[in-house]
Amino acid sequence: MTIPYGRQSISDEDIAAVAEVLRSDFLTQGPAVPAFEAAVAARVGARHALAVNSATSALHVACLALGLGPGDWLWTVPNTFVASANCGLYCGASVDFVDIDPVTWNMSVTALRDKLIAARAAGRLPKVVVPVHFSGEPCDMAAIAALAREFGFRVIEDASHAIGADQGNRPVGSSAFSDITVFSFHPVKIVTTGEGGMAVTNDDGLAQSMALLRSHGITRDPALMTQAPDGPWYYQQVTLGFNYRMTDIQAALGLSQMARLDAFIARRHEIADRYDRLLAGLPVQRPLRAHGSRSALHLYIVRIPAVSGPERRDAAFSALRAAGVGVNLHYIPVHLQPWYQGLGFRRGQFPQSERYYAEAITLPLYPALTEAEQDFVVRTLAEAIAA
Ligand SMILES: *Cc1c(COP(=O)(O)O)cnc(C)c1O
Repeated sequence: MTIPYGRQSISDEDIAAVAEVLRSDFLTQGPAVPAFEAAVAARVGARHALAVNSATSALHVACLALGLGPGDWLWTVPNTFVASANCGLYCGASVDFVDIDPVTWNMSVTALRDKLIAARAAGRLPKVVVPVHFSGEPCDMAAIAALAREFGFRVIEDASHAIGADQGNRPVGSSAFSDITVFSFHPVKIVTTGEGGMAVTNDDGLAQSMALLRSHGITRDPALMTQAPDGPWYYQQVTLGFNYRMTDIQAALGLSQMARLDAFIARRHEIADRYDRLLAGLPVQRPLRAHGSRSALHLYIVRIPAVSGPERRDAAFSALRAAGVGVNLHYIPVHLQPWYQGLGFRRGQFPQSERYYAEAITLPLYPALTEAEQDFVVRTLAEAIAA
């Protein structure tokens, strides 16, 4: 038996939607991409949505659109996928981290405020801060937005885990408290396009910049050109962009998946509620299930308290893997990666993220996970802890 930690859910409707594109005139730059963008924009309540070939690309064009460049700083959390930090390096900016909160496992607003006060004194305030809605649980965006106004930085929400989540009565992606929000459609995430991502914003100028950057910096709109068109064939490159476009094949899959977003989230909550009940008697820290927000529940993580080191977690992790349970570990703190060590980061700098890393195990969570599989995961974990 092998139970992965996450996997996509593909329906016959999804397959039919992709096949329809394959039989059509356009495999890319056809009608499916704008239709998918419109569906996501409507669902999350943002004015503009730009589909790209990954969330990593979305983070890159978001940073560039905000003017991030050499001499600037981007801050994110260590407890994330490397892409949340790498986007700053792509732009030639410097990257630094804000430690996580031990209860929410998201960026600590207190640590952020303290670091901002120190950075202001040192004349090194960040230009962009990237909070990550870890596991699908929304960060405290109102508090982060208040600091953004006070200290003058821009905000990109890395919502790679969080499409379908709500904070209060606002969907994550409404970008009411940020400049841009980014989603990922990798197969382990909530909704998939194979590979794919999207940037959403309410700002017309940022949307226009990101649209140029995803397609070579080229425009066919005379209003954006620096000189009159030579003729009807004319396009003009007005900035240095990339080919970060999503294909219509991918967008058709994404559009079809969006119809089941609410069902996916409801099913994830069912499974997580059941984990909460089954794990209640075990000496593990279960994830915060916050009041006032509804997580997208991309991940269900337990922490096995580390007394001196990670030995008990390591043993449980190995026992689960040996039993065919594809547990995982989200995340290796980014500042401990060799690339970031090479930039001067050191162990001990972000103790909450490091402690979290010594304790965490990601348990399987995806819509098709059965009760029998879930029982097996919990039984195996309980036996490993008791051993
Ligand atoms: C998956 C993920 C990304 C990158 O997404 P891709 O679509 O694979 O580029 C970025 N940030 C976080 C937090 C992620 O989980």
